[in-house]
Amino acid sequence: MVFTVAIDGPAAAGKGTIGRAVAAHFGFAHLDTGLLYRAVGAKGGDPVAAAEALSPGDLLRDDLRSLGAGQAASRVAVIPEVRAALLAFQRRFARQDGGAVLDGRDIGTVICPDAEVKLFVTASAEVRAHRRWLEVGGDEAQVLAEVRERDARDTGRADAPLKPAPDALLLDTTDLSIDAAVNKAIKAVETGIRQGRA
Ligand code: C5P
Repeated sequence: MVFTVAIDGPAAAGKGTIGRAVAAHFGFAHLDTGLLYRAVGAKGGDPVAAAEALSPGDLLRDDLRSLGAGQAASRVAVIPEVRAALLAFQRRFARQDGGAVLDGRDIGTVICPDAEVKLFVTASAEVRAHRRWLEVGGDEAQVLAEVRERDARDTGRADAPLKPAPDALLLDTTDLSIDAAVNKAIKAVETGIRQGRA
């Protein structure tokens, strides 16, 4: 069975947690596509060459989750050739047999416009910064500034900007517990399967 769940949204909205939970629930494979951009940013040197030569081992670095790696990722992510180099891998992953969940910024709009289920997960910048700050510590105002800076770069870029696909289900997690958000996502996928999109 080929069945793709596309989850997009800004940093720290809960995409990863929801994506992992949905994948575990349905036995689908899961890809955090932000890791691809983080790995390209972390490699340094020419980002296009880094994207073209990206290997699975590059995704295992333990410094990819830092705020700095997130900023570096969003800087290389504006380069169309970097995005093009990562496209085929993501599409193959999405259409593998057995179902796949991909989370990122452009999954429902560019990578998999035909995904059977599309979710756009969002939350206020303050709530997202607070969640990220609980993970990384430091100065919360600085974390909020970095979240806003990354939002502006991700939504403002010319190539594959962050925006909901017209047919995406909007999930605002500002006042929603993670369990409630995961339940809504699971219901949306169940509906997609029932409606024979699989
Ligand atoms: O999701 P995460 O915070 O790990 O993503 C890091 C950065 O990678 C994002 O801010 C964004 O610029 C870029 N990205 C992207 N397209 C994706 C996933 C991530 O441009 N599908």
